[in-house]
Parts: sequence; C-alpha cells; structure tokens
Amino acid sequence: MKKNKWKKSKLMKMAVISLILGILSGTGTEVIAQAAKAPTITELQVGVTEDGTQIMAQCGFQNYDDKSGCVMTLYLYRVESESEMSIAAYQKISYGGEGKALAVASSASDGTYLASVGLDYGGKVVQINSEHYYRVTYSGDKVEVSKVADEEQSRRQENALREESHACVHELEDELVRPATAEQDALMAKQCMLCGAVLDYAEVPNSAYAAFQKEAVEAIRNAQTDEVIIRTQRWVSFHQSVLEALSARSDVKVTVQYRYQGEEYKVTIPAGAEVNTLADKNGFCGFRYLNLIFDESDL
Ligand SMILES: [Zn+2]
Repeated sequence: MKKNKWKKSKLMKMAVISLILGILSGTGTEVIAQAAKAPTITELQVGVTEDGTQIMAQCGFQNYDDKSGCVMTLYLYRVESESEMSIAAYQKISYGGEGKALAVASSASDGTYLASVGLDYGGKVVQINSEHYYRVTYSGDKVEVSKVADEEQSRRQENALREESHACVHELEDELVRPATAEQDALMAKQCMLCGAVLDYAEVPNSAYAAFQKEAVEAIRNAQTDEVIIRTQRWVSFHQSVLEALSARSDVKVTVQYRYQGEEYKVTIPAGAEVNTLADKNGFCGFRYLNLIFDESDL
C-alpha cells in the first residue's frame, strides 16, 4: 500500500519538474525541442570511495555541455530530520557531453544520506534526488553504505513531499553562516528563500584580515590602560586605519606579537610615536618594518 502511494507521489513530482523545465525553456513546440536536449542523470546514488574509507555522491550524466542552459552540481546530503538536510559534500559538474561525477565527503558521520543533482538555470534550480536514501555506518577507518528499506524511505519521503512539495524552484540569496573573525574568513551560504535548502557555501575573501584590523582599531580606541597587546598567528601588517587610531591615542603603546615565516616576533610601538607616515602607498604597514623602526626581538 505504502509503496504504491509513494510511486504516485513520485510521478506527481516528476510531472512538476517537467512543468518547471517547460516554463523555463519557453512554450509550445519549443519545450519539446528543448526537452530532447536536456541533460540526463543516471545512477544517482551514494557510494563508497575505492579505498573504502569515505562516502560520496556519484552519478553519470549525458547531454551536458555549455549549450544545456544550466549548471549542474552534484550534492551529498545528510538527512538530519524529515524536513532538514545539510550538505556533506558537493562538486560542480564540468561540461563534457557525458561522463561521471563524484562528490566525496571530507569528513562524515553515521546517518542517513542521499545524493542529489541541482540544475541551476540562472538562479532557478531544479533539484533531482537519488531514488533511495542510504544508511551510512563508520567502523574503524572503513565505512558501510546500504539502501534504506523501502518502507521507511517512503514514509520519510512522503513527509518531505508534504513539507515542501519537493519540486521547489529555488530562489537563492546570500545568507551569513559565520561572521569573520581575525583568524577565519566569513562563510556565506546560497540559501533558497522558499524552502530553506542550502546549495552552496563560500568564504568571503579578506574578511578575516578586515576583522583583524577592526579588532585592533577597537582595542586601541577603547584602551583602559597604557598598553594594548595584539597577538596574531596569521597576519603580518596593520592597515592605515590602525595607525590612525593609534595616532589619536598618544597615551597608548602597542605591543604586537606575531609570526613571520614560522618564527615568533614582537615589536612595541611606544606611546606618542609618529605613526601616521608609516603606511606604504597602498595603506599598509608591515610588522617587520615596525621592527626596523622601533625594536627587534625574537620571542
Ligand atoms: Zn527551494
């Protein structure tokens, strides 16, 4: 009984997807012409890497090239609950007519997984999921993958269908997942505003460096004592904005402990030092340069 019901839902889902493809590619006879050339996905499943240590999503594809009108990404999803999934791995599929694609998890844990392909038609994404869910169990450095029993799966998928009618044409927006810190760049997600699915993650370049400068400026500006100590394992320069903040607080000396080419160094800028002229023409001042001017000390 349950199985039949599921099949019916799945047919409905496929109908919705072809309808969406129709809308995106035009009307009338054009749709049929386009449909003939649409990329096809085969053997979409969760598998194990050759050495048996890690899981991956895999699929074959045909009719996929720069004329397909979409960009395809292969996903390995971890099913967290009946309405929530997280990305365990993803890989953009490169154009190539036909071939095979893999998305290997870098670290994964026991749980339920599914493989999925997103076809991105310029911000409108059609998602195709693997026919089965997969149970993943790690033991030692080996991993085992088995298909989830049909009955349990149909229950899960019917719930999922109810949750989001399952053929969402995603509308993607950038969402902040993790703000930048001095040590780590900010992380943004491309998330669907309609169903909440996350389809991509990207770090924001230079955001950690900007956060480091901002923290230094605030530490100097808000200093309660006559010394500010700044420690960093990652950065080796100040931006002009830090020198300006220091210039405005002539009562404060700044000690920087930093790492340069694997060695630990320290430099102290005395209170009231003339610092506004220290930045180069691009507005940066290297700590090694500060050592030349003020003092030199290995830690
Ligand atoms: Zn969506």
